[in-house]
Amino acid sequence: MNLIFLGIPGSGKGSVAELITSQLKVLHIAPGDILREELRERSELGLMAKPFMEKGDLVPDQVILKVMEKRLGRPDSKNGFILDGFPRTLVQAEKLDEVLKGSRRNIDFVIKFQVSDRTAMKRLSGRQTCSVCGAIYNIYQKPPRKKDVCDICGGALFQRADDKEDVVKNRLMVYRQRTQPIEEYYRRQGKLRPVDGETNPYGVVEEILAVIRPGGSPGGPIPNHQT
Ligand code: AMP
Repeated sequence: MNLIFLGIPGSGKGSVAELITSQLKVLHIAPGDILREELRERSELGLMAKPFMEKGDLVPDQVILKVMEKRLGRPDSKNGFILDGFPRTLVQAEKLDEVLKGSRRNIDFVIKFQVSDRTAMKRLSGRQTCSVCGAIYNIYQKPPRKKDVCDICGGALFQRADDKEDVVKNRLMVYRQRTQPIEEYYRRQGKLRPVDGETNPYGVVEEILAVIRPGGSPGGPIPNHQT
């Protein structure tokens, strides 16, 4: 099963992907995580991506495509994957189809997470990430047992610089301008499946499982959740 998770920042893609990958036994591939790791290592790629990430802008297509082509070429992706945060432009979507075709694979479904900007803002402003294992918390909805400390590994929790309010506003605008058009691309392919991202991650997992099972809902018109 090869899936794409699509939705504005803060729509819950990452949290749901973490939960569902073990059930589906597929790989969770998030270019944002790959880039942050490169940045931590101060690699050439990480330093190149840094100014774009800090402003909430997209890293240039040719850079991200190289990263993703390499990642999808590794054998561990052959049993299925969830792409969380890729593709984000039409050029990326078209190139992805080409790369997958070259290895006789394809995308089964594109899951579109529907949430309001207000919900997304609240989630991002409360989001904390573990600096060691990458586990995600939310000070409002899923606080760690001990303040600023990861329940799983004891690592220090931090707020991502690009989760600050002004950067989030830009990320939402970038989504509307550059990523939203790919919804139509996948709708035309008959692969787009909207899910209600306003509910808790476990509810969303159930909804996705129902959608991707044979005979699942083909997905109706996408309600407008923008505020
Ligand atoms: P994310 O963790 O998915 O919110 O991504 C964090 C940042 O990484 C984004 O704001 C972009 O700067 C960059 N990024 C992640 N995925 C992509 C992509 N597919 N295309 C371009 N830039 C990306």
